[in-house]
Amino acid sequence: MTFGTLKTLSPIMTPKTFFTPGPSALYFTVEDHMKQALKEQIPSISHRSKAFESIYAECVENLKQLLQVPAHVHIFFTGSATEIWERIIQNCVEKESYHLVNGAFSARFHETALELGRKAEKTAAPYGRCVKQEHIRIPETAELIAFTQNETSTGAAQPLEDIYATKRKYPEKLVAVDVVSTLPYINLNHDIIDTSFFSVQKGFGLPAGLGVWIVNEKCIEKAKSLQEKGYSIGSYHTLPALLDKGKKNQTPETPNILGIYLLAKVCGDMLRKGIDTIRKETDYKAAVLYHAINQHHAFTPFVSDSAYQSKTVIVANTQTDSLEFIQKLKEKNMHIGSGYGSYKNSQIRIANFPAHSKEQVEMLADEIAGL
Ligand SMILES: *Cc1c(COP(=O)(O)O)cnc(C)c1O
Repeated sequence: MTFGTLKTLSPIMTPKTFFTPGPSALYFTVEDHMKQALKEQIPSISHRSKAFESIYAECVENLKQLLQVPAHVHIFFTGSATEIWERIIQNCVEKESYHLVNGAFSARFHETALELGRKAEKTAAPYGRCVKQEHIRIPETAELIAFTQNETSTGAAQPLEDIYATKRKYPEKLVAVDVVSTLPYINLNHDIIDTSFFSVQKGFGLPAGLGVWIVNEKCIEKAKSLQEKGYSIGSYHTLPALLDKGKKNQTPETPNILGIYLLAKVCGDMLRKGIDTIRKETDYKAAVLYHAINQHHAFTPFVSDSAYQSKTVIVANTQTDSLEFIQKLKEKNMHIGSGYGSYKNSQIRIANFPAHSKEQVEMLADEIAGL
């Protein structure tokens, strides 16, 4: 068979657009960077080489610039955000953590602390809501407060001011913020909170398999003090081990070199586009999507209080089986997410990440209107 006949046999394919909340659409420059990486044989270079060190340095530098992370705050690489839940508890909590829970991801962070043998208390909000700042009461004995700024399972987002006010009220406690499905959109103040983290397959539009952990000196000090007291804080991915290797632009293990390379490049592209433009476009696209949901006869936003509605993960209740709507959009090559867990058949979830162009979102909104 020649290429000519193959071409005539295959239908003309419109590429799919993934509006799923993770993995999601790849940022539009990823394909070219991936090709370049293969041409340069990046996946084969040693993680102890100068070439890797310079990729690592470029990645950290671009991330710091894009996310306005101050020079004295550290950035480390792990396998995933799930890993970072575990590492935060191991390195920053001797006995007790406190969790704001309002969905499946924040609940899993809380469970992780329990599984690691910590006393982990929580305040839970009904799904679709957040705990109101004035209702947040943290016990004297809790060492760390865990927020999930954007609950990917429900589309409820905790206003940053709530997180900052909590830190002001409990300045001696460490504050950890899960920003997996909200960065780079959210403008987090890394001088106020102590640690935050994300995986790259959501807002950064990259293949999964890389976690990014942003950590201040107080977290490092806490990890060292636990180590000195004789506690286990893990093995290869302890904060002191990450710091020690990080100073040389290296990682303790053989990392996802291709992932770090792609993240460096995509952050560079986002810097050239401008973070303010990315944020404004996200606001615009979110308005288009919420409008489409509000106008639709069968849809209502799951998060009813607009002060808590996520701009990056938009969740709607559907009057009838959501899978029908999802299927109809799939036939138009638009892939949106189902509800999470028990909401599978009664909700839809739509990601609004920097990889989703204004045009793609407008086309999706038009299709929603026709459902
Ligand atoms: C996806 C997600 C995680 C877990 O990310 P992994 O890459 O699967 O480890 C954690 N928290 C939130 C809010 C998420 O959306």
